[in-house]
Amino acid sequence: MNVDGGGARKKDLPEKGAIIQRDRQTYAIAPHLPGGLLTKEILLRYADLFDRYDIQAMKITGAQRIAIIGFKEEQLDQVWSELKMKPGAAIGLCVRSVEMCPGTTFCKLGQQDSMGLGLKLDEKYHGMELPGKFKFAVAGCPMNCVAAPVRDIGIQGTPRHWKILVGGCLGPRPRMGRELASVESADEVLAIVDRVVQFFVKNAQHRDRLGRLIDRAGWEPFVEAVIGKASL
Ligand code: SF4
Repeated sequence: MNVDGGGARKKDLPEKGAIIQRDRQTYAIAPHLPGGLLTKEILLRYADLFDRYDIQAMKITGAQRIAIIGFKEEQLDQVWSELKMKPGAAIGLCVRSVEMCPGTTFCKLGQQDSMGLGLKLDEKYHGMELPGKFKFAVAGCPMNCVAAPVRDIGIQGTPRHWKILVGGCLGPRPRMGRELASVESADEVLAIVDRVVQFFVKNAQHRDRLGRLIDRAGWEPFVEAVIGKASL
């Protein structure tokens, strides 16, 4: 049955960065906004869309993006060329998001530069195709305002260290990440993150999550593979 009573039911259009909406006829787009940082120029480009399109809403998402809702399929190419932005990796099997809190850049409680580390991770991993979806979050202190313990890789600043948590997620089977390592520098974090992502690439099943893969592999073998000398 066609619930909208109109033409064929449409689907997401990943190649156009477009997500089908509940009416199965119109699309939302969610441009990539590293760190959720907005400039006046970006905001003006967003605001201009209200004058030219019949937009239903703009909605701030949990992945620190702004979804713009209500486009027709034939409008998508034009909208992206006007926005001059790339799509956020909101769907598909890939690194969906790298959330980051203001950390020592803006927050009075910040203990580490979560923006600096988060933007490096975003540049390297955002949109990377993987066997399953994968999310990062970087918090500048143990208050964890970006929910690092429930991301596949969550990084949490403390006064002297970065804690790396792995295997967390939300969804129907939410789980907390487990502490993998505590290191002093952002470079050490990046090196360990790289090993964890490689481990996921080599060992994950289709549509896997890191936490489930760790359960199958066993915690000790996993740790040995990503921090010790065992092969991935
Ligand atoms: S996690 Fe800490 S540093 Fe980040 S916004 Fe929250 S209180 Fe500030």
